[in-house]
Amino acid sequence: MKNNFELLEELKCVLEHLFPLCRSLTGEKNRETLRILSNILPLAIHEVPTGTKVYDWIIPNEWNIRDAWIADSKGRRIVDFRASNLHVVSYSEPIALQMNWDQLSSHLHIHKELPDAIPYRTSYYQHGWGFCLTHSQYSELKQLQGPFEVVIDSDLRQGSLSYGECIIHGKSKKEILISSYICHPSMANDNLSGVILAAFLGRQLSRRNDLNFSYRFVFVPETLGAITYCFKNEQAMKNIDIGIVITTVGGPGKYGYKQCWDRSHPINQIVEEVLEQAQEDFITYPFDIHGSDERQYSSQGFRINCITITKDRYYEYPEYHSSLDNLDFVTASQLEKSLQIYMQLIDKLEARHIYRNRNPNGEVMLSRYNLYSLVGGALHPLLNGRSDLDIILWLLFWCDGNTAIEDIARKLNLKNEIVYECAETLTKHGILEKI
Ligand code: ZN
Repeated sequence: MKNNFELLEELKCVLEHLFPLCRSLTGEKNRETLRILSNILPLAIHEVPTGTKVYDWIIPNEWNIRDAWIADSKGRRIVDFRASNLHVVSYSEPIALQMNWDQLSSHLHIHKELPDAIPYRTSYYQHGWGFCLTHSQYSELKQLQGPFEVVIDSDLRQGSLSYGECIIHGKSKKEILISSYICHPSMANDNLSGVILAAFLGRQLSRRNDLNFSYRFVFVPETLGAITYCFKNEQAMKNIDIGIVITTVGGPGKYGYKQCWDRSHPINQIVEEVLEQAQEDFITYPFDIHGSDERQYSSQGFRINCITITKDRYYEYPEYHSSLDNLDFVTASQLEKSLQIYMQLIDKLEARHIYRNRNPNGEVMLSRYNLYSLVGGALHPLLNGRSDLDIILWLLFWCDGNTAIEDIARKLNLKNEIVYECAETLTKHGILEKI
């Protein structure tokens, strides 16, 4: 109980510490975020310079902002970056101009549905500038008509894109990718919740010495950061089968999970079992080409099977991509609940027994190992009407180094122990090897 209280306090503290930072695709606040996360999970922080070509993309100039405002003729700030960093379109070029409503209005953005919300906008690849504001701020500016003092104290210069990583080694070199994105400014569910959950998950795993899998934790700006990471770690990423993209995990609403691109992959079933065992009602989102960094990790060159468990998923809640996605919407206790769900997923993955058929080319000559004699006339009553031979042949068919005994048992509608026992027999004969 005490531990849980401490964890909640820690989560609350980190949420409040990281929330105000004006993160973006690049910039000093991304680095600061990574440094703060390093206190939870030690991260190697990498910098990729402006101008670097990563596959079809180029790392842009680094963006930093200090202040911005729209003030009336008396110098009173009507829109003020210091009140919310969402007021400025991310990657806005610096300006300092006097202008009237007619010149200003085309640079203003409001939220269509929520009058009190400041919408979130970015302009990473199109030069320009803009402000985001509430309906009442918009009306006030329109009424005043100007002249306004419009200032964005930002710069776009040669710099770098920053990302963090931490690899936690288990007994096997086989890795599970865990990725979250650090590019969003002051919004709590999308995606500060995901970033913090990933860091705490990493800390819990790093304290264990019984891990079977190795875990590759990655903190990148969304899209370009994930592409850059794949570019920099191409061979390692091509060897990964399972990925977990952590985003929007701290809302008050329902759990949901996005399936991986290969619908038949066992990870989908495992996630469903975790949510069912936690007695959570949940929404299933089939794989879709829209979404987060699974788009990069599942692209043709990598084909990692990424799942995402969410609590109020991106796109789906009204406060999404606005200033109302704040620390009233996301609480430490909601985040802690999601952390437990992710831990249960890891525990389930860790508990899997995975083997590889050492003779994948054609069937094994079972009589050579005296295994063909196992085939009696009668079918085993414990085996759901299957024979031992049947199980052996299915094991040889499925044990590819990725499919676990638990997945095979599920497919065959058999108890795990029965299939496991059979796999151990094949291992003793040197036909299978345990991973
Ligand atoms: Zn987003």
